[in-house]
Amino acid sequence: MTQEELQKLVEEVSLKYFGKPFCYDVKINSRMTTTGGRYHLADHHLEINAHFLAPQYRDALIGIIKHELVHYHLHLASKGYRHRDADFKVLLAKVGGSRYAPDIGLKRSRRVNYIYRCQRCGQTYHRVRRINVRRYACGKCGGKLRLDGTPH
Ligand SMILES: [Zn+2]
Ligand SMILES: [Zn+2]
Repeated sequence: MTQEELQKLVEEVSLKYFGKPFCYDVKINSRMTTTGGRYHLADHHLEINAHFLAPQYRDALIGIIKHELVHYHLHLASKGYRHRDADFKVLLAKVGGSRYAPDIGLKRSRRVNYIYRCQRCGQTYHRVRRINVRRYACGKCGGKLRLDGTPH
């Protein structure tokens, strides 16, 4: 599946299951291992794990797209878009999105729950725990860090 085909598929799933358009970019990430996709809070684009673009994972791919679109639509509507939020759980169940990325035997990597991005140089930091962005600055340039998304 090409990037263009994936973009089209995400836009179709958005209209069909959420009744609203998806108006941002979808990128293919071939380095993802344990997660199926990622929604970026800062600029609203989605990343999809390249491994799930193979034809045999079609159902899993749709489940992942729905999951990321639940983050997207709730975030844009200023509702609870995080996994622990009631809004998230209700909408995910309603559209039939996957709770976790299906296990297709990809290499396990370190668990990452939070991604921070430097506002000055763009360096990203993957962390298991939340960090206090007032106390920790970018290790490269000293710029301010901002929460950029949760990798699910
Ligand atoms: Zn920096
Ligand atoms: Zn998620």
